[in-house]
Amino acid sequence: MNHNLFAALRAAFPASLDAVAIETADTPEPLFYTWRDIERGTAMLANLLDSLGLPPDSRIAVQTEKSVEALMLYLAVLRAGHVYLPLNTAYQAAEIGYFISNAEPAVVVCSGKNFGWVSKLAFLAGTAHVFTLNDDRTGTLLDRSAFQSDQHHTAPRRGDDLAAILYTSGTTGRSKGAMLTHANLLSNARVLVDHWGWAEAKAAGQQDVLIHALPIFHVHGLFVASHCALLAGARMLWFSRFDARAAVARLPEATVFMGVPTLYVRLLGEAGFTREACRHMRLFVSGSAPLLIETFNDFRERSGHTILERYGMSETVMLTSNPYRPESARRGGTVGRPLPGVQLRVHDDKGGPVADGEIGGIEVKGPNVFKGYWKMPEKTADEFTTDLWFKTGDVGRMDADGYVTIVGRSKDLIITGGYNVYPAEIEGFVNDLPGVAESAVVGVPHPDFGEAVVAIVVARPGTTPDGAAIIAQLKAQIAAFKVPKRVFLVSELPRNTMGKVQKNLLRDEHKALFAA
Ligand code: AMP
Repeated sequence: MNHNLFAALRAAFPASLDAVAIETADTPEPLFYTWRDIERGTAMLANLLDSLGLPPDSRIAVQTEKSVEALMLYLAVLRAGHVYLPLNTAYQAAEIGYFISNAEPAVVVCSGKNFGWVSKLAFLAGTAHVFTLNDDRTGTLLDRSAFQSDQHHTAPRRGDDLAAILYTSGTTGRSKGAMLTHANLLSNARVLVDHWGWAEAKAAGQQDVLIHALPIFHVHGLFVASHCALLAGARMLWFSRFDARAAVARLPEATVFMGVPTLYVRLLGEAGFTREACRHMRLFVSGSAPLLIETFNDFRERSGHTILERYGMSETVMLTSNPYRPESARRGGTVGRPLPGVQLRVHDDKGGPVADGEIGGIEVKGPNVFKGYWKMPEKTADEFTTDLWFKTGDVGRMDADGYVTIVGRSKDLIITGGYNVYPAEIEGFVNDLPGVAESAVVGVPHPDFGEAVVAIVVARPGTTPDGAAIIAQLKAQIAAFKVPKRVFLVSELPRNTMGKVQKNLLRDEHKALFAA
């Protein structure tokens, strides 16, 4: 049996390949992709990859705008038996250079507008093939695949062969590549299709329609949303970027929406977001960052629907979920119970279990848990307990009835608009700027983004660096979502007796900065 994830997704295509699988919602004219288009398009792209004669397990690094073709490229990479490596579209040269040199991809695909600098970095790192793919169906990738056959035999893969590498930053250094296998992704997708009512809707002959408005370089949009829709044979309304008004306008045609908390805040900001607009909806899913209880309550009042909050991470895909049924069992402020097949425990610093309802480190086990960090065996070993539970780095508690609440992150990860920002990485960039002696980067509450990035900077003697100039310099180097929104100059950072910067004090000091 072939354990290639693509084989399972393909087997779930509806019998009628002429039905529409994906409709674009924000192209100049709507584009309709049938299941046959996906079958043929992915075959042609997989044949192009085959024609390059790449060794098995080659990494295919992709930094392109969101498009249906980009999704097909992901599927084609699986189909051809290679390893997909998505990169955030906001990443700039310093970041891309690191990923390419660390992952050593055999192929890099980028937007045409970035070809100059990306190809330079890729060729320097020894990558032989660089293609372009734009969001208007142009680029050398499609030009080249147009000459390929539209028939392709899915490459045989074992369950524990790599399917994807997702880079997730570390708090103490550069990003780590989480290696996910075909079995990790497929087992989790099957659980979600069952757990969230996709299978039931299909069995009842109801056509699910998913509003897909999340980026596809992250676990949420790429795996959770796309896999559920594909495996359920559901239709996707495809937004290349989230636009609250446009999403509300299409809600009456949809049955499922998945978003990060910021998207829910935006939906609530639209006057047209009403019970009537949601009349065919059966499920709203939130995750990637904590959903404020106010948002949960306001949403229920306005729409009559209860958001289902779930919790997961790049290394494990989805771990817990509030119940699908009954809707009244979805508890705001919690991330629900461990999903079927996932084991979750809460341990204290000494490695022993805490009592029900007590706070500790969340550890997990299951078929969804990743294989390790790319080229970092020691880091991987550090993150697992001796009895092989993965230490998520999240701190939380589990009540007697199994509901999990996340109370914070053991490290100082900042989540802004659903994206992770790792202070250590930003501090590295800030500290390199002229006039900066040292810095601390923290997250403070922000009404729209959940958290906002703030930098506290100590100047070199005899200099007074300008906060606005620091922000401008960072903008030219790193993704906009990582750039501090405010910079404060101080004479020294607060430290404890062990010499560690006390970030909790800094967070406290600046916590009202963006108060609504
Ligand atoms: P990522 O690997 O980018 O998906 O980030 C994973 C991290 O996001 C987790 O380790 C959690 O800290 C956080 N996270 C994901 N979902 C939730 C949630 N529903 N509530 C709180 N934090 C979450």
